Amino acid sequence: QDLFQSPDYYAIDELLTDEHRLVRASVRDWVKKEISPIIDDCCQRAVFPSHILRPLGALGCFGPTIPAEYGGGGMDYISYGLMMQELERGDSGIRSTASVQGSLVMYPIFAFGSEEQKQRFLPRLATGELMGCFGLTEPDFGSNPAGMLSYYEEAGDYILLNGAKMWISNAPFADIAVVWAKDPENKVRGIIVERGMEGFSTPETKGKWSLRASATGELVLDNVRIPKTNILPGARGLKAPLSCLSSARYGIAWGAIGAAMDCYDTALRYAKERVQFGRPIGGFQLIQKKLAEMITDITKAQLLNWRLGVLRNADKATPEQISMAKRNACETAIRIAREARQILGAMGISGEYPIMRHMMNLESVITYEGTHEVHLLITGMDITGFNAFS
Ligand code: FAD
Repeated sequence: QDLFQSPDYYAIDELLTDEHRLVRASVRDWVKKEISPIIDDCCQRAVFPSHILRPLGALGCFGPTIPAEYGGGGMDYISYGLMMQELERGDSGIRSTASVQGSLVMYPIFAFGSEEQKQRFLPRLATGELMGCFGLTEPDFGSNPAGMLSYYEEAGDYILLNGAKMWISNAPFADIAVVWAKDPENKVRGIIVERGMEGFSTPETKGKWSLRASATGELVLDNVRIPKTNILPGARGLKAPLSCLSSARYGIAWGAIGAAMDCYDTALRYAKERVQFGRPIGGFQLIQKKLAEMITDITKAQLLNWRLGVLRNADKATPEQISMAKRNACETAIRIAREARQILGAMGISGEYPIMRHMMNLESVITYEGTHEVHLLITGMDITGFNAFS
């Protein structure tokens, strides 16, 4: 509890249980000890710190809501949200790794997999012994995954999978990939592709200015021969991958606010200490305006996220409500990062402080898992009944 000092302007902690607070404190403590000291260097060098995978698993960050019988944490969605918040307070790339593993790899295997697939993969994914990635986006189909070209043909007890996925988080080091492709009837299916299968490779995407401490890559699928037992039996149609995205987007709504909190904390501390014109810059009205708006926006987002968590625990959160929270959190966090960077003046662009790194990371977070525009159209369609996508 003592470890946790975060903006809590509306006593939102009173809405949390002891377990929620404990989970939050343990992840935060770990991030402070293990991530904060190394993360700037990782980003500067654009390397993913792979030594953190087992510890992340041990901490329970992989699949916290998956039942304990499959190695998950059996926790509720508010605990999951708080974990993502604390991981992203450290870095969006670290949170992305956990989001992909839990929501985009373990969740589909848990929700749509056979009992054999669940037993075979979930416990080892929970510990980080196995890592996974999620292949939906293709070079020509991002916001519109229904158009995907990846497909498979049947060959006895096997399938032959062809296609290309890009912008896939964790791909370069993943042991398995949950790949979405069309079956001979043109239905979208989920397939577990394993590293080592002939024709499957994962070249790394270089030159990113965002999420530099997260490994991103392509999935090249060239006539990959895969046993039919690797197809997720319960997933037919685009609804299946979209339900995975709902789970991940929920975590992102909390995560992005973690990054915003770190920017706010940093800017507030700096504004109290930095002296110009003979007094702390925090005493100037223009700086106070920035800080006051930041805490107001963080508080609003915290309440939105908490309420969404309550709804999700009751299995009542709609995908449209999740879209709203994801969109709101990303916009809030990017605005706060930009304002915080200005409060630090030149120091704001330095890796000595986390703000510029968060700001650049958030440019990915606002784009992946449904772009800012797409989430707006989802809300628009929900409230008007008109589809403005196409
Ligand atoms: P496009 O779909 O081409 O969109 C370009 C622009 O057009 C956007 O501004 C978009 O909002 C806008 N636009 C599109 N359609 C409309 C419309 N109907 N109306 C108005 N505007 C529209 N994908 C995965 O499958 N797995 C991953 O693990 C993964 N990780 C990622 C990691 C990173 C670092 C990044 C950057 C992306 C990742 N993605 C991943 C891909 C991500 O989900 C896509 O980039 C995203 O869905 C957008 O697709 P696109 O980039 O093809 O943009």
